Amino acid sequence: MNIFAIETSCDETSASVVSNGLKVRSVVISSQIKIHAGFFGVVPELASRAHIENINHVIWQALSDAGINFTDFSRKIDAVAFTSGPGLAGALLVGAIAAKSLACVYKKPLIPVNHLDGHLYSSLIENKSVKLPFLSLIISGGHTELVAVEDFGKYKVLGSTRDDAVGEAFDKAAKMLGMSYPGGPAIDKIAENGNPEAVKFTRPYLKGSWDFSFSGIKTALLNYLKTSPVRNEKQLNDICASFRQAVAETLCFKSFEAAKKFNLKRIVLGGGVSANSLIRKIFLKTGQKNKIKVFIPSLIYSTDNAAMIGCAAYFKQKNCGLKYDDIQLKTNPSLSLENWRL
Ligand code: ATP
Ligand code: MG
Ligand code: FE
Repeated sequence: MNIFAIETSCDETSASVVSNGLKVRSVVISSQIKIHAGFFGVVPELASRAHIENINHVIWQALSDAGINFTDFSRKIDAVAFTSGPGLAGALLVGAIAAKSLACVYKKPLIPVNHLDGHLYSSLIENKSVKLPFLSLIISGGHTELVAVEDFGKYKVLGSTRDDAVGEAFDKAAKMLGMSYPGGPAIDKIAENGNPEAVKFTRPYLKGSWDFSFSGIKTALLNYLKTSPVRNEKQLNDICASFRQAVAETLCFKSFEAAKKFNLKRIVLGGGVSANSLIRKIFLKTGQKNKIKVFIPSLIYSTDNAAMIGCAAYFKQKNCGLKYDDIQLKTNPSLSLENWRL
């Protein structure tokens, strides 16, 4: 089954052709980082406009890379998937309208996909051996979710962030340090040259709960900078390394505690922050030590991309069936992770 998927929830315009959920035949990602960098965050109106400007080309390129054109779309594509939420309202609408148009014109079933399902299943694309059940940790710009996945679409959300998402904490920390946007990759790079023990940031473990909280580390950094402003490169390296270490240890500690408590033998990471080099290292090492298999998407599938939407769409239609074009289908900017079979 070939799914044509579109993702426009935030600041990446992406389209992809995915066969049988796991074989990515093409994926095109057009990033808007340059547009938003000067504002240190995504500006919703600019994001919507950029999606409108980019979407046609991205769709055409993804089809072309998979050896498909508009004359054989009908024969080669079985369904059209799109991100229906969560995300920026205007940005979501651009992808939804493009997907609805294709589904209408070519009379294909339309599959709305939760963006978080995309991040949750993104590891499966390259690790076909991931077995259920598993513990999923979704760490992205807007979410931090610890989820027990019993079966495809059958979830129990164990914990989420009570304040800042982990990616948001990285982005805000970078801004405080006068670094570029997005802050996650910038801090990650600089942290490589620093001493992770230099600044003692507390680890917000929130004992007795599976929730996370990252605003405390962020404020700790703000207070630290008030008394010790950055004066040289070494100091910046050390602060970044210490901040990254505190975040990575917190995520790792809580995930492995949850895996042990709920007797889950696999941990699957997803979301842009899973691109972080220390988080990847520390999870893999702790997994080996605890005999828990850890699966992490490669960098292209960590941040937003339409291949993960095509993957999630495949498993969703297997559980829910294919639904023909419902022009009334709505996007939902605050969609939460939901079970497919209730
Ligand atoms: P959501 O998925 O919650 O709707 P989003 O789609 O904006 O949010 P993603 O594209 O999945 O989020 O991830 C973007 C986030 O990932 C940004 O906050 C960015 O700073 C962070 N990020 C990317 N690379 C790294 C890295 N190497 N280290 C830490 N954070 C990173
Ligand atoms: Mg993004
Ligand atoms: Fe995302």
